[in-house]
Amino acid sequence: MKQNYDLLVIGGGPGGAVAARTAAEKGFSVCMVEKRPAIGVPIRCAEGIGKDVLSEFITPDSKFISAEIKRARLVAPDSTSMMLESEMAGSKVGYILDRKVFDRELAWQAADAGADVFVKTRASAPIIVGGEVKGATLEHCGTRREVHADIVIAADGVESKFSRWCGMNTTVPVREIMSSVQYLMTDIDIDPHTTVFFLGNEVAPQGYLWIFPKGERSANVGIGISGKKSGAGHRARDYLDRFVSATFPEGKTIECVVGGVSVCKPLECTVADGLMVIGDAARVVDPLTGGGIYNAMFTGKLAVEVAEKAIEAGNFSKSALMDYDTRWRESFMGKAIARNYQIKEYFVTLSDEKLNALIQSASKMNLSEFSTLALIKELIRRNPKLLTELAALRASLG
Ligand SMILES: Cc1cc2nc3c(=O)[nH]c(=O)nc-3n(C[C@H](O)[C@H](O)[C@H](O)COP(=O)(O)OP(=O)(O)OC[C@H]3O[C@@H](n4cnc5c(N)ncnc54)[C@H](O)[C@@H]3O)c2cc1C
Repeated sequence: MKQNYDLLVIGGGPGGAVAARTAAEKGFSVCMVEKRPAIGVPIRCAEGIGKDVLSEFITPDSKFISAEIKRARLVAPDSTSMMLESEMAGSKVGYILDRKVFDRELAWQAADAGADVFVKTRASAPIIVGGEVKGATLEHCGTRREVHADIVIAADGVESKFSRWCGMNTTVPVREIMSSVQYLMTDIDIDPHTTVFFLGNEVAPQGYLWIFPKGERSANVGIGISGKKSGAGHRARDYLDRFVSATFPEGKTIECVVGGVSVCKPLECTVADGLMVIGDAARVVDPLTGGGIYNAMFTGKLAVEVAEKAIEAGNFSKSALMDYDTRWRESFMGKAIARNYQIKEYFVTLSDEKLNALIQSASKMNLSEFSTLALIKELIRRNPKLLTELAALRASLG
């Protein structure tokens, strides 16, 4: 490990790895540190990603793809279900990844491109000189060292501490932390090409329960519920256990993961002097779906594109890095987050009766395109009151 780099990336998830790979490909000296002993484990993810967005960052490869998804099924509290077929998505619905291999592959690509990669290396404090972040103190295999960098990229995930240490407000309201549990189950009867989402306050209050196939007879079966709805006897795991014993009584659980997903608004500002924040650390997860793999990679690449200009100009101030914040907010991703936040705030207020009515209405739709936006647009068309309620909500949120 050197003492000085152009860029120091904290965290070896998809966001950090794409940032490190992009920086190395541009010829910068870059160091990526990961506190865990291995990249990609433990997994805290249902591993779903859209086909088209994945290939923006990596060539799809069967070594890190567990299943190809052709359709999705939404199940209402009263068991009405609606199928979203792949024809609506131009046959490019999605994949269920094997993130143990996927995250490792991205880190390998970063290393191959020339990045220094260190595991078992925790950033424990920022180095701040004259108000500007200039690197980090790292705990590396029992030793402590200071590593200096022109720009630090905080890619330290949902539990991110680095940007808080640098003075940013990263608080997530409890109600906007989805408390999640997931079992990797095998020996279960599923459709290996269909993802299934169960909605309803009895099944997953202010969240949803999912089945994401991992093979012919195995799947990630998980749940996310609002942190505010969690309590003794009704924790996420209680809901999941009830579902699993009713639906897959003979199934076997071979892995269990727990984790939190923030479904709040993104950080108010994702840059500071010498610092850029990306991925889950920036709270850029889609607030409606909880999906964040693509958003982490997107912000990782964009951060380095803006950092490149700052490094060329020798100016690492907040204003020099601000273009990153502006560009992701103006991007398709940024607009989707802003829109889906409003929709999520509306959906969490819905009673089971309203959810039933909406899914019944949606099940009769003939969508020409498969996307959250297309679905919402059509729902509003069929239920004009929904638009009024959303508008009222938007006004109340300011
Ligand atoms: C149960 C669950 C299901 C999900 N399902 C999906 C899904 O199906 N599809 C989807 O798109 N998204 C899903 N997500 C979200 C997705 O996992 C994240 O959005 C994605 O991993 C974010 O990538 P990241 O690089 O920002 O952060 P992470 O992948 O969290 O990587 C951050 C890394 O930083 C490391 N780190 C933290 N602190 C330090 C430190 N001080 N020093 C060094 N290293 C540090 C961590 O160990 C970690 O490896 C799910 C999340 C959960 C919890």
